[in-house]
Amino acid sequence: MVQFVQTNPFEMAQAQLDECARIMDLDPGVHRILRVPAREIHVAIPVRMDDGSLQVFQGFRVQYNDAKGPTKGGIRFHPEETIDTVRALAAWMTWKCGVMDLPLGGAKGGVICNPKEMSPGELERLSRGYIRAVYPLVGPDKDIPAPDVYTNPQIMAWMMDEYSKIAGKNQFGVITGKPLSVGGSKGRDKATAWGGMVTIREAARVLGLDLAQATIAIQGYGNAGYYAARLARDLFGSKIVAISDSRGAIWKKSGIDPDEALKCKNDTCSVVNLPGTQAISNEDLLELEVDILIPAALENVITEENAPRIRARIVAELANGPTTPEADRILHHNGVHVIPDFLCNAGGVTVSYFEMVQNFYLYFWEEEEVLARLDKKMTTAYHTVLETAKRYNVHMRQAAYVTAVSRVVEAMKLRGWV
Ligand code: GLU
Repeated sequence: MVQFVQTNPFEMAQAQLDECARIMDLDPGVHRILRVPAREIHVAIPVRMDDGSLQVFQGFRVQYNDAKGPTKGGIRFHPEETIDTVRALAAWMTWKCGVMDLPLGGAKGGVICNPKEMSPGELERLSRGYIRAVYPLVGPDKDIPAPDVYTNPQIMAWMMDEYSKIAGKNQFGVITGKPLSVGGSKGRDKATAWGGMVTIREAARVLGLDLAQATIAIQGYGNAGYYAARLARDLFGSKIVAISDSRGAIWKKSGIDPDEALKCKNDTCSVVNLPGTQAISNEDLLELEVDILIPAALENVITEENAPRIRARIVAELANGPTTPEADRILHHNGVHVIPDFLCNAGGVTVSYFEMVQNFYLYFWEEEEVLARLDKKMTTAYHTVLETAKRYNVHMRQAAYVTAVSRVVEAMKLRGWV
């Protein structure tokens, strides 16, 4: 059996692609191109801190493949950001846009920093500095960033403004996930979770699972985790029995109220302080006996070590890269239905794409229309991947890869690149 290195996300992304290349019998030259990013930039961003000192932050932007269109992908602000994480995430963006059949390629950005320890002024100067540093590479028809871990609509607004100032005109379309009053799209805030709910709804239909009776555990309580909790309750009547954040996890048999948990997080910096719940660890949360497990935090949490103990029927990956290739095989063998990350969490970039369209037209849609279009695209993508899984007799992640890679390769061929 092939042994995969599990700690480096880019090696994990490459291992997943290698597996897909074997299944598809991909041309070795094409495979070589798809294993590495097309372009990447490393930047040093000087920022004046509130105490008067000048700090230099390291940032990255990786453009992985633009065969299908301008590259697209979020920017993460994280103390443990590495170039290999950004490379992996840029690869996954390529497959994400491919599986959704969007006219976009994949990219990702990152800055090594701890936003939790920075003032709003410092964050603004860092955000503007990042855009000044990558300015020649990004643009509404080149590469369009968006929010990701620890970045938000306000940061997108600063970045859009900085880009517009340099360009000498309003360029709303340079970035998505903006606030509504400066070119954002209705529904973008809940889009990642909404898209995930559509795939869960379809999976439950296929598996014969009654969502009104279902129990759910969610790891991570950022934008995706919170909206997942709220929508699972509001749309399906499912019970959220456990949630977590970076400080720990909580469990409550009768169900956790998503808004009370959010209020607790906002007031006390963590969900762990929510009264009436029992403290458990993030590891325990993953192994709970629930119908649906939603990893909605960071990569590399379901590994060969804990995969045998995962008892959920569905693992819906709202995070990017939560499951290692070895764990994938174990989950598949144990009959767990995995809705792979770049399918499950593609609602975010799909509504980002709608935001780009609305920015080009300067005409904005109602939330109902945004979500209806999102539902249609997610439903189609889920069933295309499911059919591919059956046709090739492979698991859902491999099927998502085959679907996405085929589309990217077709574009590369038609453009005469290979
Ligand atoms: N950062 C999100 C993701 O990983 C959204 C990307 C986008 O909207 O461009 O899919």
